[in-house]
Amino acid sequence: MIQANNPDLESWVKVPKETDFPIQNLPLGVFKTDQLEPRVGVRIGDSILDLKTLHVLGYLDNLPFSIESFDTDSLNLLMKKGKIAARRLRDRISELLNKENNELQNNNHHVQQVLIDVAAADVLMPIEIGDYTDFYSSREHATNVGTMFRDPNNALLPNWLHIPVGYHGRSSSVIPSGQNIHRPKGQTKPNEDQGPVFGPSKMIDFELEMAFVTFDGKPLGDSITTEEAEDYIFGMVLFNDWSARDIQKWEYVPLGPFLAKNFASSISSWVVSLDALQPFSVDTPNQDPEVLDYLKFEGKKSYDIHLQVAITPERATETIVANSNFKYMYWNMAQQLAHHTVNGCNVRGGDLLGSGTISGPTPDSYGSMLELAWKGTKPIPMADGTERKFIQDGDTVTMRGFCKNEKVRIGFGEVASKLLPSK
Ligand code: MN
Repeated sequence: MIQANNPDLESWVKVPKETDFPIQNLPLGVFKTDQLEPRVGVRIGDSILDLKTLHVLGYLDNLPFSIESFDTDSLNLLMKKGKIAARRLRDRISELLNKENNELQNNNHHVQQVLIDVAAADVLMPIEIGDYTDFYSSREHATNVGTMFRDPNNALLPNWLHIPVGYHGRSSSVIPSGQNIHRPKGQTKPNEDQGPVFGPSKMIDFELEMAFVTFDGKPLGDSITTEEAEDYIFGMVLFNDWSARDIQKWEYVPLGPFLAKNFASSISSWVVSLDALQPFSVDTPNQDPEVLDYLKFEGKKSYDIHLQVAITPERATETIVANSNFKYMYWNMAQQLAHHTVNGCNVRGGDLLGSGTISGPTPDSYGSMLELAWKGTKPIPMADGTERKFIQDGDTVTMRGFCKNEKVRIGFGEVASKLLPSK
């Protein structure tokens, strides 16, 4: 067992009872304050442990990290050190925060320097993302979309059960939680018998996704197997892949998503390691027909992560519009990474691979407004008496995710951003 995953560990740092960030989590992120330049930190309860200062004070000696790995505005340098080093770092931080350990907790002067109240910090974009790929790996989502737009009797395209379908997205517009976006403008074709028009999208949607961040992969030309895949995955974040359905519908043939997808995608702030998620690993859905050899895998390759989406209109309370789970994904991350590299395509440290919209089997577990309101035919009631077919100006979309067993809750916090009117 990974030492830091021991469910009986308790920290001397006070954490709220239902926190997403107990000592068994220890996700990494980047933050700054009025006094402190951007740096790497670890979230514990409502506090951030400042790893730069911790390193300066000598608490991270004997680990393969120099000060540069922490004195920086992204996790990319730290990730260069790879899986084993990241595991050793998490184990060491767990040791320092353990209430049975006096090294740090008894030094008040040091504690005051390294523990920062999260409310006093600006939490920043954690990763400098190189390449971003988005998959389409939820069978329920692909079936719903195929049913709505093509043929209920042949909802899945012939390749879907054989290939983890994906496309290359755009990294420049991946933004951190809390950054608001403007309604995009573009070309749409609202009427079958008239030409296209230009203007603000009328069908802005969220996509409930999770994404994983990679360590440096193999050189161009080499492939990562399903068995090796987890050694190349640094951790996971919540991911809202904003989409403009009316632009998408008109533009996507024949090369797939373009401007409907690349205006913004939001990620949560704290990267949760696969190590921390390990106690929540579960089997993936049975795959039938049998997949090709390079996509076969052994063991539990998915995670039981509860997911939730809320919409908060301006000056109103939130309405939960969906409850889903990462475990519904048909294609798992190991298969996605194996497929992505099987042709020799290289991944690099800081690449982001999105799951695709995660829809569950029931109508309240769908991962997009397109499906929840079924193409606008079943508007979703809001707590303030209004209703939604898609996202309106002033709405904040918030996604949350957590794993939970009898002893431990490991969460991702949230990814939230508000849709502002078109510029
Ligand atoms: Mn997507």
